[in-house]
Amino acid sequence: MPPADLIRPDIQALRAYHVPDSAGLIKLDAMENPYAWPEALRDDWLAALRDAPLNRYPDPQGRELQQALREAMGIPAEMALLLGNGSDELIQMLALAVAQPGRKVLSLDPGFVMYRMIGLFAGMDYVGVPLRAADFALDLDATLAAIEREQPALTFIAYPNNPTGNLFDAAAIERVIEACPGLVIVDEAYAPFTDASFLPRLGEWPNLLVMRTVSKMGLAGLRLGYLAGPAEWLTQVDKVRLPYNINVLTQASAAFALRHRDRLDAQTAAIRAERGRLYDALSALAGIFPYPSDANFILARTAPGRAGAVFDGLLARGVLIKKLDGAHPLLADCLRLTVGTPDENASLLAALKQSIADA
Ligand SMILES: *Cc1c(COP(=O)(O)O)cnc(C)c1O
Repeated sequence: MPPADLIRPDIQALRAYHVPDSAGLIKLDAMENPYAWPEALRDDWLAALRDAPLNRYPDPQGRELQQALREAMGIPAEMALLLGNGSDELIQMLALAVAQPGRKVLSLDPGFVMYRMIGLFAGMDYVGVPLRAADFALDLDATLAAIEREQPALTFIAYPNNPTGNLFDAAAIERVIEACPGLVIVDEAYAPFTDASFLPRLGEWPNLLVMRTVSKMGLAGLRLGYLAGPAEWLTQVDKVRLPYNINVLTQASAAFALRHRDRLDAQTAAIRAERGRLYDALSALAGIFPYPSDANFILARTAPGRAGAVFDGLLARGVLIKKLDGAHPLLADCLRLTVGTPDENASLLAALKQSIADA
């Protein structure tokens, strides 16, 4: 049987998740922490890895790492915790655990594309409720109407949102949680860059889960996400987890990094400060209009029809960002810039000035 007959039509219709080649470029496209560890800390890390038993399967639940995460992140003691190979895997586990024909995943658009992709992989329908065009705020009336109509099994709310960078109104999220018949997952991937969080509010609603990741705080290479919430939910979701999903090196490295949490906190604090400076510099540039951000990136709009040329101009000058123009109607003329080091941001701004002039 040829692939055209065997592969599901909805999978054939997809394009694979595209990661551009970034070799030799200033990489400001993927919300990574730009700071490496100092030499002495790397030596300590390697010493910690020396004893990692590569011949053994990892601890199946990552218990030591779970304990380190509980302490470092202030996860309420009465809440259960589930680890994923990135939060992407947690989204997949949630979808697999609830998917049935006709079941819906709901989120806010423009938002994180993996909610839609993973929902589709699992055979669920995706419902995207548009954000308000002017400021990317949650449109409460439209969202409540969609919840009433679609009765979603899973509702994902990124807080702050990617790719828009804003926090939705907390009172509006509360209304959404109360209206949803299924689970609401508040995705706090950008928690290190904001003071707002629903983590302390776990337990206030029986259907609220909070998902986080260590990716954006500086450990993207480890692939580690975590999901916190009532045990009655997580014990069920845990059943679709593949055994040993968090490998030995990730468990040891993440536990090590959390013992040096102050280092990561200093880096994310520097990124937050630099975000403010980059925002001010962008605001002062003609031809680019930044949106306020509570994350480690800034969404910015170019003059109409210029986003492609500005993106290409930056690439030609050695700076890789993310072009969002074309991804969603509300993102017309939009670019997303990850906050880098002061040097990287200076290069970005210089290249941006030239690219806008040429565009
Ligand atoms: C980056 C991102 C994630 C993905 O996190 P991983 O743990 O790296 O899989 C999840 N949610 C949002 C909103 C993100 O922007």
